[in-house]
Amino acid sequence: MKSHGYAAHDAKSALVPFSFDRRDPGPNDVVIEIAYCGICHSDIHQARNEWKNSLYPMVPGHEIVGKVSKVGTSVKKFKEGDLAGVGVMVDSCRVCANCVAGDECYCEKGMVGTYNGKDYEGNLTFGGYSNNIVVDERYVLSVSPKLNLAAVAPLLCAGITTYSPLRHWKVGKDSKVGIIGLGGLGHMGLKFAHSFGAHVVQFTTSESKIEDAKKLGAHEVVVTKNPDEVAKHVNSFDFILDCVSAPHDVNQYLNLLRLNGTMCMVGLPEDPVSIAAFSTIVNRRSFSGSMVGGIPETQEMLDYCAEHNIVSDIELTSVQKMNEAYERVLKSDVKYRFVIDMASLAQ
Ligand code: NAP
Ligand code: ZN
Ligand code: ZN
Repeated sequence: MKSHGYAAHDAKSALVPFSFDRRDPGPNDVVIEIAYCGICHSDIHQARNEWKNSLYPMVPGHEIVGKVSKVGTSVKKFKEGDLAGVGVMVDSCRVCANCVAGDECYCEKGMVGTYNGKDYEGNLTFGGYSNNIVVDERYVLSVSPKLNLAAVAPLLCAGITTYSPLRHWKVGKDSKVGIIGLGGLGHMGLKFAHSFGAHVVQFTTSESKIEDAKKLGAHEVVVTKNPDEVAKHVNSFDFILDCVSAPHDVNQYLNLLRLNGTMCMVGLPEDPVSIAAFSTIVNRRSFSGSMVGGIPETQEMLDYCAEHNIVSDIELTSVQKMNEAYERVLKSDVKYRFVIDMASLAQ
């Protein structure tokens, strides 16, 4: 099947138009005409080979929504015209304990990434900065027509990546929760923690985001450049979600956890994190991480969002302006997720 989109060809150059082939849809496949695709900071890390695992040519994009244009003969969940989404994975082994439990992102054989990956036949996968995609229905999510479709796109990565750890660590009305970094992930973590009834404190380096953070659901906002403001919260949090994309000192946040509190990294700075032993032994604190979420939980999150009217706050952009959007994300100048209108591909 013919596809076209935008690709990175090396770590240094801007993304450029790119035509390529996808597999022809098989009996279990769904073809989606992509309407919108979010720009995740992971797209930038990988386009620029910051994690040292990049495969080129790379068509990034794993916050994909659109309309089903074709279904294989055995497809049960979807029909032509349905709204559908695809997140960070398009396959996994399906038989290991983690896949069977619905934790496909932790597949023992390794999940197949939507892009910058290889399928089990060894072919490169290409993501959502493109006009269409072919995916086995097992890895395709149902999207409610109730919500603004463009603003749903970021839920497929930023949404599930923050929803999953908040659920895993049972954040609820008795929790005091900290969210670090008000970007794509951070603003979704803030919305979910607020929606689950927690007392939420947003940590930000950007004074300009204080008012927005409050509107998005923060009960308190701490500007992290002021150490005194941070210190006021020492030994008080049940759970802290770290959504920062760049190197930073995690010890100053670990010190804010109360007895048995947990700090969870979802941000993926390229360099290793350094932890002082004292930051964890005091209060028997845990330092952990979490990777997106499995398919059943992603569907649960999308259904939760439809029920509670939760979407991402987005700025719509075009493929032509994508490289500019990348630069703005790198400057933390994002409110709060760029989403590419794929209709711009035709221009
Ligand atoms: P983003 O929109 O760029 O947000 C990152 C935010 O971090 C910025 O808006 C900024 O918020 C803060 N920040 C940036 N530089 C900082 C610095 N030097 N020190 C302190 N704070 C800083 O990125 P995103 O798309 O939300 O992604 C965040 C990270 O999560 C990325 O590393 C991405 O690769 C990773 N990620 C992980 C998973 C997973 O499965 N675990 C999934 C998706 C993404 P303020 O202006 O509020 O300070
Ligand atoms: Zn992502
Ligand atoms: Zn598996």
